[in-house]
Amino acid sequence: MGGSLNLDEIVADVAREIQPHRGEGLVADYIPPLARVDPRRFGMAIITCDGQVAETGDSWMPFSIQSISKVFTLALALEKLGDELWTRVGREPSGSRFNSIVQLEAERGVPRNPFINAGAIVVTDAVLAGRRPDEAIGEIRDFLRKLAANDTIDVDKEVATQEAATGFRNFSLAYFMRGFENLKAPVEDALVTYFNQCALRITCQQLARAGLFLANGGVDPITGERIVSTEHARRINAIMLTCGHYDASGEFAFEVGLPGKSGVGGGILTIVPGRAAVAVWSPGLNAVGNSQVGTLALEKLVQRTGWSIF
Ligand code: GLU
Repeated sequence: MGGSLNLDEIVADVAREIQPHRGEGLVADYIPPLARVDPRRFGMAIITCDGQVAETGDSWMPFSIQSISKVFTLALALEKLGDELWTRVGREPSGSRFNSIVQLEAERGVPRNPFINAGAIVVTDAVLAGRRPDEAIGEIRDFLRKLAANDTIDVDKEVATQEAATGFRNFSLAYFMRGFENLKAPVEDALVTYFNQCALRITCQQLARAGLFLANGGVDPITGERIVSTEHARRINAIMLTCGHYDASGEFAFEVGLPGKSGVGGGILTIVPGRAAVAVWSPGLNAVGNSQVGTLALEKLVQRTGWSIF
């Protein structure tokens, strides 16, 4: 399904083109383990639905998954709750900061979409479903391990602890939603689960592999296993396209034109429907919080492959 494209060559060209930009952007510095990461790191991995892999740079190096984890918890929550989930979280781009509390008040505790923090906390609460946090954290980690076919994926405990120690905004959002009865679990339980899911470490290789089912209507094309329904895969892709890049989701659709989800660790998971999944990582972020060089690399990739859905 790489078609006649020589993906190894394309990936090498992209790496060469972004070379002068390496180190651009600002590494997230709200917690030391993220602030310590070398901004010059860059990796990219592509896996096609027929199992071709092309990769470059630091595609083997684990980084903090952060908000990209929200794609996987959304998949789990949708399979558990089905359409009921949409009574608790919307699916409109927010147009405000990812951790805005103003909008949440105006909308009476129902967050705009599953990828802003408030929405992701509700989704995590749905995955938690009355269980102990360690069970839900284990489920999310094991889901990623299975999808990535890699049992080494795990939570970075230092990141999880420090997210919790500094996550005052997330606590505010969660208490607020609890006040509107849109959070079922105790705030501490929902948040410890959320902080641990954000603290998972993953490589570009593993992330692209883990997202591949979304390029293939919800079925892992390599194992043939159905992961989510066709309908849920379609919806997750739609939300990635419209809401996956914080306030710059429109810009990403304009420049790259693919469903994608970024995280403050500098990773981006991108889905090429019917063809492939692509993961990039470069820790320097632009002003909106998306990987600067990662986004540039994806722009170069779609220019060469014609993979934009538009
Ligand atoms: N753990 C981060 C938070 O909730 C996630 C940030 C992100 O990647 O958007 O603040």
